[in-house]
Amino acid sequence: MASKKLQMNFKEVLDKDKIFEIVKQCASDLGIEAYVVGGFVRDLILKRPSKDVDFVCVGSGIALAKKVASTLNANKSVQVFKNFGTASITHKDFNYEFVGARKESYQRDSRKPIVEDGTLEDDQNRRDFTINALAISLNGSSYGELIDPFEGVKDLKRKIIRTPLAPDVTFSDDPLRMMRAVRFASQLGFDIQADTFDSIIKNAGRLKIISQERITDELNKIILSETPSYGFKLLYHAQLLDKFFPELTNLQGVEEKNGHKHKDNFYHTLQVLDNTASLGGDLWLRWAAILHDIAKPATKRFHAKQGWTFHGHEDKGSRMVPKIFQRLKLPLNDRMKYVQKLVLLHLRPIPLVRDNITDNAVRRLLFEAGDDIEDLLNLCRADVTSKNPARVQKYLSNFDLVEQKMKEVEEKDQVRNFQPPISGEDIMQTFNLQPGREIGIIKNEIKEAILDGKIKNNREEAYEFMLEAGKKLNLTITS
Ligand code: ATP
Ligand code: MG
Repeated sequence: MASKKLQMNFKEVLDKDKIFEIVKQCASDLGIEAYVVGGFVRDLILKRPSKDVDFVCVGSGIALAKKVASTLNANKSVQVFKNFGTASITHKDFNYEFVGARKESYQRDSRKPIVEDGTLEDDQNRRDFTINALAISLNGSSYGELIDPFEGVKDLKRKIIRTPLAPDVTFSDDPLRMMRAVRFASQLGFDIQADTFDSIIKNAGRLKIISQERITDELNKIILSETPSYGFKLLYHAQLLDKFFPELTNLQGVEEKNGHKHKDNFYHTLQVLDNTASLGGDLWLRWAAILHDIAKPATKRFHAKQGWTFHGHEDKGSRMVPKIFQRLKLPLNDRMKYVQKLVLLHLRPIPLVRDNITDNAVRRLLFEAGDDIEDLLNLCRADVTSKNPARVQKYLSNFDLVEQKMKEVEEKDQVRNFQPPISGEDIMQTFNLQPGREIGIIKNEIKEAILDGKIKNNREEAYEFMLEAGKKLNLTITS
């Protein structure tokens, strides 16, 4: 429809980057139509800078990519995905994707569609949301014109996520789109239109045909958005969250007994997550927030006097992390260990707030947290979710005091990156020993003495201490 094709002209924007003129020329030489499409166009209108540009052409995307690459002198950077009929070029920080317009038809139990060549309209029909189905012409006299068959621009203005076709068709064809709907809502701060949302609830069970890697990719993007709690609430109400993360939905609910109530740990956790986000936390600090109370249901007890307790939830929670990471296909590497460590230690800074706290307790925590100590303190700050602003302020300034105290102790004792001042070699030489258990015992005693503040963290004091420790083990010193 002509009126929908002429809504806006992007010629000026396209003129700012020579790639568009190049694609136009190459497509024209090949005698095919080409368009900029999808996320790049959406982000252009939203003024979100983007380094990924998708091009669709009515013809071979691979042939167009090759021609563009040779014009750019970037032949080496072309990657061809023959099975998908796509090709990409990386050039000066940018990533250009080329695909031939296609028509897709799906069968019920598979995400793998039957793909045929199609028109631009067919291609726009198979896109996930109206705001992602926008295209800009790179052809002849229509160069720069927006093609918006589903009122995507209007939805951008109304801040709405909506499918181009009937939502049941779009979601049933590819259930990953349900995760994408929530992801875009969370990243952009948009609503999901009511029919679209109802259809997600209806189709939530179909998420099971999607690989966990792809679900987790979308989940991580939700976690990295500005207010991740919004995305999680959408996932929860859409009944998607329990399909892949039941440990988290199990946190929901409040129980009351004899007038004792505990807080709703699901909403508390989401608040902590938002707090880590506003403190600038990266993906892994945010994962620590998501998992910090994950073992509360498993450790919940009721005592007549104390009310509800969750003793040991930090320890059990930390032990639950590997299984959750494995199932969600998150990396089982040092990032996982970091999350485990923060979950395990997340209660430890709290008692350090008292004035009469010893240097020993501070020193031990520094030793255990090592370089993650600042992140641990930020997790603790994020964990303050009282509704009383005065109380929040008091807790937060308490953590500032703890941080100050930690700095003082660290300056004195340097235990944050603890290196034993006396090596195993030293011990073997001093007592003329072969490798054996005594060496470990003595090393450990030296470390404990330093952490307990009995001796300073330096070679002289540690050496004296070692001689004493050896004596107690009836070792003789070689002269
Ligand atoms: P971003 O790159 O910021 O994540 P995007 O919209 O560019 O956002 P991509 O995953 O890069 O998202 O996909 C590019 C375009 O391809 C989308 O805008 C959309 O038009 C289309 N698309 C991607 N995945 C799907 C899908 N599962 N179903 C339908 N269309 C999709
Ligand atoms: Mg993209």
